[in-house]
Amino acid sequence: MSKFWSPAVRELTPYVPGEQPRERLIKLNTNENPYPPAPGVEAALRDFPADHLRRYPDPQSNALREALAEELGVTAEQVFVGNGSDEVLALAFQAFFRQARPLEMPSISYSFYPVYCRLYGIERRTHPLDAQWRVDLDAFGQDVGGVIFANPNAPTGHGHGREAIAGLLERVTDSVVLVDEAYVDFGGESAVPLVERFPNLLVTGTFSKSRSLAGLRLGYAVGSRELVEGLERIKDSFNSYPVDSLASALGIASLADREHFEASREAVITTRERTRDRLETLGFQVLPSQTNFVLVSHPDFDAAQLFVGLRERGVLVRHFNTEVLRDHLRISIGTDDEMDSLIEALESLCR
Ligand SMILES: *Cc1c(COP(=O)(O)O)cnc(C)c1O
Repeated sequence: MSKFWSPAVRELTPYVPGEQPRERLIKLNTNENPYPPAPGVEAALRDFPADHLRRYPDPQSNALREALAEELGVTAEQVFVGNGSDEVLALAFQAFFRQARPLEMPSISYSFYPVYCRLYGIERRTHPLDAQWRVDLDAFGQDVGGVIFANPNAPTGHGHGREAIAGLLERVTDSVVLVDEAYVDFGGESAVPLVERFPNLLVTGTFSKSRSLAGLRLGYAVGSRELVEGLERIKDSFNSYPVDSLASALGIASLADREHFEASREAVITTRERTRDRLETLGFQVLPSQTNFVLVSHPDFDAAQLFVGLRERGVLVRHFNTEVLRDHLRISIGTDDEMDSLIEALESLCR
């Protein structure tokens, strides 16, 4: 607390990101990709002329938006880019969810959403997941100022298909439905093709997970022109240049290498399924996952203690100390070698 803070700052509960440890640990706690970015990214980094940094970047990031539009099968006017999808989400909350009616979200989803609600003074209404821990789409849509959820959801891993999302959009027509697709490339079905049909659909995505570029900070949103324009109005009232010219060049290089992208996401999916089998052999319950992590619990061992034991053995995973999640661990999918170390450590802890 400081007397110099604006009154609203005292009321905030900031998001706490997963730890970025200094020591050498097997890092399975923030859903980073264990494989390097496309080789073309390294080449673009090497070739980037430092003299270009003299100039401000293109405030509209047109080249990057065009490359993304081509990848996603939309037009550049339907694409917005920002400094990580967290920033794009923050702008979207401001642009669309500061309404008289509450914003609806699942009770378990990305834990940044409630943080933005508090920051912007947005009232939220949460709905429990269904019995299989899937987002209950039918619960949404009663007198709402907006709807947001991650699909596939985090930290649970389940994703709904495009038809189910379309069903929700048939019902919720007078406020924005934001589908956060941070993990869609690991087995989900994207709602992007629905933006033509539903002007209130905003889909967000990131280069952090499937493109191995978490350190670069690049995220995007896809939606109708009126939604993109809403985001642009907030952006240009806050920071005209959220995407620097180097990030833009490297993002474009990443999009150019489809082969690398496919190989890396398939490797993660294969390792995920192999890891699931091995965890189940150790007695863990593993939720089905269309992401690059698994959410697990063990009937006989306490998750918080497993977290500590794993850390002592050099493996860092994520434990959320909340009522509903404290019996679970979220484990990001690393390389096969890293997952071997995880399983070895769990074998010594679960006996
Ligand atoms: C990782 C993640 C993000 C943030 O991605 P950045 O682009 O790195 O900011 C957004 N939403 C969900 C659900 C995530 O897991």
